[in-house]
Amino acid sequence: MTEAVAPLRPGATIGILGGGQLGRMLSVAASRLGLRTHIFEPGANCPAADVAHRVTTAPYGDDAALAEFAASVDVVTYEFENIPAHALDLLGAATPIRPGRRALEVSQDRLTEKTFLRDLGLATAPFAACDDAAALRDALAQIGPRGILKTRRLGYDGKGQVRLDAPDQCEAAIAEMAGAEAILEGFVDFSAEVSVIGARSVSGDVACFDPGANEHRDGILHRTQVPSGLPASLRSDAVLVAARILNALDYVGVMGVELFVTKGGLIVNEIAPRVHNSGHWTQLGCAVDQFEQHIRAVAGWPLGDGQRHADVEMLNLIGDDVDQVPELATQGGTQIHLYGKAEARAGRKMGHVNRLRPGA
Ligand code: AMP
Repeated sequence: MTEAVAPLRPGATIGILGGGQLGRMLSVAASRLGLRTHIFEPGANCPAADVAHRVTTAPYGDDAALAEFAASVDVVTYEFENIPAHALDLLGAATPIRPGRRALEVSQDRLTEKTFLRDLGLATAPFAACDDAAALRDALAQIGPRGILKTRRLGYDGKGQVRLDAPDQCEAAIAEMAGAEAILEGFVDFSAEVSVIGARSVSGDVACFDPGANEHRDGILHRTQVPSGLPASLRSDAVLVAARILNALDYVGVMGVELFVTKGGLIVNEIAPRVHNSGHWTQLGCAVDQFEQHIRAVAGWPLGDGQRHADVEMLNLIGDDVDQVPELATQGGTQIHLYGKAEARAGRKMGHVNRLRPGA
């Protein structure tokens, strides 16, 4: 099912929930297309505030602020998936939300997400809900010998996760969840992690970017490289998996799909219903990058084609890495993106660089 809607015209306003670096780069992309953005963000001095047309600083529980925000925009989108349901109810009654509620429901809870993916016929790690040590011991006996216990909700960058490989670790692993609902995933023996950034338009067209190969450090994305080194058959499998998910959710916007590469083929790790850090390379590698692609989709415009015209690596600047900027600024073929964050705390994403890879 697709919506018949007129594309937003220049001067229209896109509301964005969340004012971090993703909201900032979405705002820049929108303004290039003659569209305005209105950011809704609880924290003061957010990165998107420097570049957006308007900012509302209020908590998601402030109904009056949400109602005023909804009345001021033509469509609402978001840069993170953990938006409280009450805020979505209120906004959704007044204005379209793209991507829609189903994508949020699925991605907010790892158990719902894995079940959705499995029901679509896609491969996932074996999984089981485990809220106490007894359930975890049983699940580990079935799924193990190695597994990862993860909080069902609100985990990101590897946070809220415990690896385990013996039954006597179950009590401690459950204690680490601190009362949060949890899911055990079987440990996947993967040779690489890749992601596909895909997009779907209001009229149901799908365009995917070339899969990128991701490297993590301390649970945080460090580098994405394209081409990924995947053989052509797996590259098309990855794109088909993403398209399958986009269609099943009747999705509108950009989505990140993280995949493990194994001997038996691709396994879906997780989906993010938004622009994704592993898609930042598109800013240098494609005529229409993931941010413009998302704005086009939620504004009801036709999608860009996603074609890659260069070999690129994206490196995140985390914490003190930002001190390398003067040196990076002397290097050719290097595009620097800084998020305007004043304080370089450890583990904080301060910016990223996109570099043409030698031979490109
Ligand atoms: P996630 O928060 O699910 O993206 O997990 C963070 C990282 O932990 C992933 O990028 C993988 O490197 C690793 N990881 C997550 N789930 C599994 C799994 N089931 N098996 C092996 N490694 C995993």
